[in-house]
Amino acid sequence: MSTLSFLLKHFPGIIKLSENRGMITRRLRSCVRRAFSSKFYREKLTKAGVRPSDIRTIDDFTRKVPLTTRPELEAADPYDVLAIQPGRECLIYAQTSGTTTGRPVPVWVTKREFERQTELALCLPIIRKHLRKDMKCAICYPYTRTLAGRGGDLIIQHAGATLIPIGTRNNMYPPEVAAETIRKLRVDVLGAAATDAFAYANILLDRGLRPEEVGVKYIMSGAEPCSENRARALGKVWGGARVFSLLGQNESGFLGVPCEEYMMHIPSFAMFTEIIHDDGTPAARGERALSVVTPTTREAMPMLRYLTGDYIELLKEPCACGLPLPAMRILGRKGTDVRLGPVSRFPIELENTLYKADLNGVWYQIHAWPDHVDITAEHRDESDWSRLSGQIKSNFESEFPGVAVNVRMVHQGELYNYRELRMGKAVSRVLAGSDGKELIEGA
Ligand SMILES: [Zn+2]
Repeated sequence: MSTLSFLLKHFPGIIKLSENRGMITRRLRSCVRRAFSSKFYREKLTKAGVRPSDIRTIDDFTRKVPLTTRPELEAADPYDVLAIQPGRECLIYAQTSGTTTGRPVPVWVTKREFERQTELALCLPIIRKHLRKDMKCAICYPYTRTLAGRGGDLIIQHAGATLIPIGTRNNMYPPEVAAETIRKLRVDVLGAAATDAFAYANILLDRGLRPEEVGVKYIMSGAEPCSENRARALGKVWGGARVFSLLGQNESGFLGVPCEEYMMHIPSFAMFTEIIHDDGTPAARGERALSVVTPTTREAMPMLRYLTGDYIELLKEPCACGLPLPAMRILGRKGTDVRLGPVSRFPIELENTLYKADLNGVWYQIHAWPDHVDITAEHRDESDWSRLSGQIKSNFESEFPGVAVNVRMVHQGELYNYRELRMGKAVSRVLAGSDGKELIEGA
């Protein structure tokens, strides 16, 4: 066990002590030194006139080291971002989806750092408190391209629990087979994208089976954003499971540590996080600002001041869960906020408003216009439709004064065929304006 994971497990409060400027400076300096071993950063830093020895303070780091953007990493040769060359250590490759640009960002870890990250994950409160050896855990994250499935496997194996690897909507485990395995094995912990977890419950319901009888206690939702209220609705579909939303980025890892209050905490023991305005000037806590991250424990692929493209809001108050790390809300990608009447909101916030109603279908669509919003939501029980649509309408009307709200309820599977492999693209979930600009992509 590494020193860091030991401290995190036994003395979580001590992590706060590592927040002093001296420790942070030392970590950032060693990051820059490591980054200099990669061709990508050696060239980038040299061009900016920065040598590792120039970084003596945190301010040196934030002022002298240039931001790293996604397009730069997309354009790089995958081997140029490596600080450790193949053959020196066992390396594992992954990449981002590249959906938007068609150019994925390479992602590398060494076997050793991958295992250390697993140890750290095991020490996080939500895992330490809830994952027990006698639990049966189904991992429905992808096993190829991302490190999600493999990471989930390692966590379960190191915890000594029972592992049921399923993957995500693949030929070996089409949705109906996946749902049946989850039922038959009486899974306690379901690691899946929220959409898939909703889908598997609906497949069981279609067969006249009751998802609550499976006995799922926890759902670790990942791979897509899931708002707090959608997480609650998902838990209800599975008969009262607790849902934790783990949102990571392939290229930068976990940006936040989820807690039991549905908040995300900055993992400052492994990540240096800055918040900046659009023009690059530093932002303050409580402001909606862009996050810039420097993972400080990276070995294979160092990253310096990576502009994630995500807006976050660092909370001013400590979180009720007691975790001694700054709490934040992850709002969404730059340019995806929409104006509805007098207010502007990110898609995840619109989803959160929608799911104040207990929807149990798999999919929804919110199409936002400046003066009105068209909402289509799947729900199984037609007898609830008028109650739910009334609730949704009044929730949106009170949050967006003066905006006309149209709600249409449809049967499960009408927007998204959850029984199919994910071959084509599902209808988008949040759209804006007449060009139907897509804000949350289909799964
Ligand atoms: Zn918390």
